[in-house]
Amino acid sequence: MTQRQLFQQHLAPTSPSPLLLEMERAEGCNIFDTSGKKYLDLISGIAVSYLGHSHPAVVEAVKNQAEKHMHLMVYGEYVQSPQVTYAQLLTKNLPDSLNCVYFVNSGSEATEGAMKLAKRVTGRAEIICFDKAYHGSTQGSLSLIGGDEFKNAYRPLLPGIQRLRFNDFGELDKITKRTAAVVVEPIQGEAGVRIAEKKFLQALRDKCNDVCALLIFDEAQTAFGRTGKLFAFEHDGVVPDVLLLAKGLGGGMPLGAFIASHELMSTLANHPVLGHITTFGGHPVCCAAGRAAMEVLLSEKLHHTVEKKNQLFLELLHHPAIISIRHQGLMIAIEFPSFEFNKKVIDACLQKGVITDWFLFAGNCLRIAPPLIITEEEIRWACEVILDAI
Ligand code: PMP
Repeated sequence: MTQRQLFQQHLAPTSPSPLLLEMERAEGCNIFDTSGKKYLDLISGIAVSYLGHSHPAVVEAVKNQAEKHMHLMVYGEYVQSPQVTYAQLLTKNLPDSLNCVYFVNSGSEATEGAMKLAKRVTGRAEIICFDKAYHGSTQGSLSLIGGDEFKNAYRPLLPGIQRLRFNDFGELDKITKRTAAVVVEPIQGEAGVRIAEKKFLQALRDKCNDVCALLIFDEAQTAFGRTGKLFAFEHDGVVPDVLLLAKGLGGGMPLGAFIASHELMSTLANHPVLGHITTFGGHPVCCAAGRAAMEVLLSEKLHHTVEKKNQLFLELLHHPAIISIRHQGLMIAIEFPSFEFNKKVIDACLQKGVITDWFLFAGNCLRIAPPLIITEEEIRWACEVILDAI
């Protein structure tokens, strides 16, 4: 049997029509399949590989840490240097109030942890989220996402969730003294790069302050330079009470985190103890990889190169079939007339060796979120292929 047949036989499917590309290795912005065909990765494994694939510094960190030790104990008991030094690096680059990191395994778990934290801190259970939001696939995080078609088959989900219209100031009155937290992406990824208005985020901040609710920013897709700043909230100067990180956080390894003040975070350690438990959260190899990646990002100031690359994409991507382009840095959504049109463009790009995608809540939009190290030459070629595909 071929690998493809074995995949279909033994790996649980997530859709009836997976891509089924047989990938063998990856380097920089390229992925190579088993036949040796080279693909330019314009989506970074969905906003993960911001340094490209198998960056030597990350590979070395993984090898070094694996040789020292891998898993030793459930999260939170032993002092393990990879966790400590990465938490130190992250918090050094965040506002003072975000000084305490809870490492978990994924973005979904970060959302879960933050929701539990909000319940403990406020003693309330109601959580506010937004249309077309995406925060994960576990039952708590699924309760917060924007599309009913993904939720209906799994109800009942969490009670007490209210979904508001994004960027709609008229909805703010729904945030009340019953609200434990407002969970929002400063730039909605799966909605196809929908950017929160600065004034809207400020209004959310003010409202949360008024009613003593926590403001939670989900930056799973937007952190680590993707939008041109280290973290997207830096564009708006609005600081959340809790920051969710995942995807790029592990430098290509699985890692998530929710970050808050030490004072807030302490609530999870008391009455009862062990308010959140995770066996593998903050795995030492993942933390070592994530830290190595972030060190490269900072020392090479890759986030400062993002705006120029954004401009080049915008300069090159002109076609009558493009309805609009929503973008911030290297997070770009090209809007086409329909999903069917978009799908044909995606398939044609793939044929020519360029990997793009659509968005969960914007099927008619083409996703571009390449590694930040993408070169001018690669951008020019990618745009040529996309235009040709259109
Ligand atoms: N939040 C956002 C904004 C995301 O985009 C995602 C993943 N697409 C998640 C949370 C969930 O992350 P994970 O798949 O690691 O659980």
